[in-house]
Amino acid sequence: MSRISVDEARALWLDVSDEELKERAQAVRARYHEPGHATYMVMRIINYTNVCVAQCDYCAFYVLPNQDGGYVLSREQVFDKIDELLELGGDLVGFNGGFNPKLPLDYYCDLFASVRERYGERVEFYALTVAEFVFLADRARLSYAEAAARLRDAGVHWVTGGGSEILTEEFRKRHAKWKYLVSDYFDAQRAIVESGMRTTATMVIGFDETLDERLEHLLRTRDFQDETGGLFSFLCWTYKPYGTAFGGREISGHEYQRHIALSRIFLDNVKHIRTSVLTQNEEAFRALDFGADDFDLPIEDEVTQKAGARIDLDLEGLLAIPRSLGYTVEYRRAERPGGIVAA
Ligand code: SF4
Repeated sequence: MSRISVDEARALWLDVSDEELKERAQAVRARYHEPGHATYMVMRIINYTNVCVAQCDYCAFYVLPNQDGGYVLSREQVFDKIDELLELGGDLVGFNGGFNPKLPLDYYCDLFASVRERYGERVEFYALTVAEFVFLADRARLSYAEAAARLRDAGVHWVTGGGSEILTEEFRKRHAKWKYLVSDYFDAQRAIVESGMRTTATMVIGFDETLDERLEHLLRTRDFQDETGGLFSFLCWTYKPYGTAFGGREISGHEYQRHIALSRIFLDNVKHIRTSVLTQNEEAFRALDFGADDFDLPIEDEVTQKAGARIDLDLEGLLAIPRSLGYTVEYRRAERPGGIVAA
């Protein structure tokens, strides 16, 4: 099956039945993964600060500098959260916070070096999202290459493609005009790949984005992967509207699953398509039939929980769902750069 164009993707979305979409997505999935088999991780997002100057209108998490309720976690609080994750059988941390102008790049390098020193290979962590990385590099007046080298030298292996939502300049202007330009986002991610760190692609749907904007996001992602080969995976989740300035409604699980199928077919150069238990709960597992092959079981993410996400800590109960759909599930350890998998 050859690569599909944007026009063909549009036609698939508009005209093709669920059954045909599933079949086509499964065919691409089978190029990379054994049918009927899925992998997962147990992870925790650590939201180290909620202070942010970006003011995205879809965010229910942030407070402005000097407003009541702002926090920065202490080193001990971060360690306590990691210890709790280890006790629950997880081994992946994602650091994610606001654009806090009082935290310089050195704060991050010290924090990540201390996590690496304390936990060694027992824990892997996604140090930042590309969005936070752009902000930090700009504030430090460093090139993206220089900032990436600083993080890498502090022991960072991963900077994920989080904070991308919808990667079109029009979407950024409508909802997040102080966050970054799309061109900066990809320049930064390219520097991350070139520094030797790993990265991922993400997407969030369910705001007011058009079909063309979704397709533009997918095309930019596929082009970036053609150019760099640096994307380990693609994770899509859905917007939670509660408590946000933008408001709106949640999209259905069915729409999400069709989008996963479209992404699997379109992103023929990305190995892993990940489904979001954090935002879709039980519905996320149905996306395995639509081409996803991997998922997280998160135990905390304040950003999405503030906007309405519901976290279930009955991990065995959650794993019973994909099993009941006919999948074998296997724990996946985070990869280290160079392809080494932590034991
Ligand atoms: S989404 Fe992130 S960058 Fe935007 S306001 Fe919220 S914390 Fe800040």
